[in-house]
Amino acid sequence: MTRPFDAIVTGAGISGAAAAYELASGRRVLMLEAESRPGYHSTGRSAALYTPNYGNDVVRALILAGRPFLDRPPAGFAEHPMVKPRGAIAIAGPSESETFEERLALSGPGHEIHEITPEEAIRQVPILRREGIARALFEIDIEDMDVAAIHQGFLTGFRRRGGELVCDARVDRIERRQGRWQIRAGEVAAAAPILINAAGAWADEIAALAGLPPVGLVPKRRTAILVDLPPGSDPARWPALDDCSNEHYFRPDSGTRLMVSPGDETPSPPCDAQPDEMDVAHLVDWLERTTTLQVRRLAHQWAGLRSFVADYSPVVGADPLAEGFYWLAGQGGYGIMLAEPLARGLKGLIESGELPADLLRHGATAAALAPRRAGLAPAT
Ligand SMILES: Cc1cc2nc3c(=O)[nH]c(=O)nc-3n(C[C@H](O)[C@H](O)[C@H](O)COP(=O)(O)OP(=O)(O)OC[C@H]3O[C@@H](n4cnc5c(N)ncnc54)[C@H](O)[C@@H]3O)c2cc1C
Repeated sequence: MTRPFDAIVTGAGISGAAAAYELASGRRVLMLEAESRPGYHSTGRSAALYTPNYGNDVVRALILAGRPFLDRPPAGFAEHPMVKPRGAIAIAGPSESETFEERLALSGPGHEIHEITPEEAIRQVPILRREGIARALFEIDIEDMDVAAIHQGFLTGFRRRGGELVCDARVDRIERRQGRWQIRAGEVAAAAPILINAAGAWADEIAALAGLPPVGLVPKRRTAILVDLPPGSDPARWPALDDCSNEHYFRPDSGTRLMVSPGDETPSPPCDAQPDEMDVAHLVDWLERTTTLQVRRLAHQWAGLRSFVADYSPVVGADPLAEGFYWLAGQGGYGIMLAEPLARGLKGLIESGELPADLLRHGATAAALAPRRAGLAPAT
């Protein structure tokens, strides 16, 4: 039997969960997730950092629009604060003067970046080696995000609003008939006038199932490792650290562990991404050259996909080629920060064709997010 809904969301990562949560007030919403649990793919593999100076102008506008929600979520959304101060240091070698100046120039009202001495950098992150650091800067506004709590907040709120989540339900057939999207996901059959494509790296595949051309999404693999710090280390107050050209970074993880990433961006088909041995070896080499750590074993290693379109802005809104088909994709390396503002943006576009006033005020526009905007994969 085909069950009727007002909207069906494909994918229960943080993007789909946030959209389902927003849409479920006043609508019957079904969310379908291919895996046995939500968050198995990119959402569960992020660096969990709030970085307001990251991405292009559209992305930065959206990050700022999402800030009030992180500071003051609705009552009952999360038991603890969802963001915590961390700060970040960037170090530059003698040949990285240009990138260093570019980074410093990103400083602005509400997002202060200032130069510090290499000695101060080492005082704050005592494992750093002095050699190789020509200059250093400090960004105060970088914060840790509790990704699991934010994701869980959306999922719990969605259920409280009457929404239904079905896991182990990979959408494998999509047809538009009699003004509704008819969806099959294994044994599940459902129909709704609105379909939200929040399938992360698989969003172009969902479009293909619906007979639509791709937007040109490119999933890019990023590797990460966890290493133990020596006994006696107290990294809780260390800032995150990166090497200015944005190629490598680390941040304290829980307890006395460090999460380290090479900042790789290797194009990949949509898949259960796995770390590449060579990437891990290069990363350990960088870590041992940059810090006094000797890495004997890895506590954990993983990889995840960050999916981008050609202009690196997200893809959000109605597809003009198919009534009732909405995109929520291309969140790249910012999808945790953007989950709430994009979900509200999508709701606004569905209900009135406009983004909410606060997103517009920050400089985001529907045109900059539109699925068939110029410069993305041509509609064939
Ligand atoms: C190493 C790394 C570091 C990152 N660091 C940060 C960071 O510090 N800050 C930040 O904001 N962002 C960061 N990101 C980016 C962020 O993790 C992603 O942008 C975000 O998780 C994307 O969420 P999503 O819901 O769109 O995708 P996903 O979490 O991948 O969810 C998509 C879901 O769709 C499901 N799906 C796919 N096909 C189907 C189908 N046919 N039927 C049903 N379900 C389907 C998948 O199973 C998946 O669960 C990082 C990413 C990586 C990999």
